[in-house]
Amino acid sequence: MSESNRLRIAIQKSGRLSKESQKLLKTCGVKFNVNEQRLIAHSDNMPIDLLRVRDDDIPGLVMDGVVDLGIIGENVLEEEQIERQSLGKPAECIKLRELDFGACRLSLAVPNEFDYQGVSSLEGLRIATSYPNLLRRYMEQKGINYRDCMLKGSVEVAPRAGLSDGICDLVSTGATLEANGLYETDVIYRSMACIIQSTQSQPDDKQALINKILSRINGVVRAKE
Ligand code: ATP
Ligand code: ZN
Repeated sequence: MSESNRLRIAIQKSGRLSKESQKLLKTCGVKFNVNEQRLIAHSDNMPIDLLRVRDDDIPGLVMDGVVDLGIIGENVLEEEQIERQSLGKPAECIKLRELDFGACRLSLAVPNEFDYQGVSSLEGLRIATSYPNLLRRYMEQKGINYRDCMLKGSVEVAPRAGLSDGICDLVSTGATLEANGLYETDVIYRSMACIIQSTQSQPDDKQALINKILSRINGVVRAKE
């Protein structure tokens, strides 16, 4: 595979960050048309290729230098960073800036009937999550031993299904928790979308393009503040 001289930007294919990621790049003057069936969208007016992938893949693609930039939730970035550090894989990237979308929090929640007296109430209990590393870091800080229940989806139904005592999941409005008879007890991580760059050194023209995009993003995000 030859190294591309076009700037590669990874964005979420479909999900909560995909529309806003595309809108941000378009507002910055990057013209492109997305074909839902295609992994890659080429810009017609700038030497930029968009890679449309699962959000979970974005931090690794940037840290391995497969793509130059990525737009990703800080929650996924931080989770992947801890995971890679523990495996001895490349785990570095440059966070260029936080963006103004994708706000959510990673929180502990328990069933409505649970008599919660603080995080020590979870001692020895089982907690379902898709974020085992962020959960472990928080529980270690608090000195709580708990048991894992790793689920990539349907985390919010785990207690009712008898799989776990509580959950650690993303929350924005709290409606999903309420619908599942759960209440939020501790916020363990607050997250926004962010734009990250690979630590690989770039040819001057590519770095100049990154700087141009970043300065436009700064303008767009600041204008909305
Ligand atoms: P993919 O198919 O790309 O793996 P996904 O199901 O993992 O998608 P989404 O649900 O689309 O991911 O969420 C993507 C990101 O959006 C989250 O990691 C988080 O940063 C952000 N986000 C904002 N609000 C919420 C919310 N209420 N619930 C989940 N994620 C949210
Ligand atoms: Zn995902």
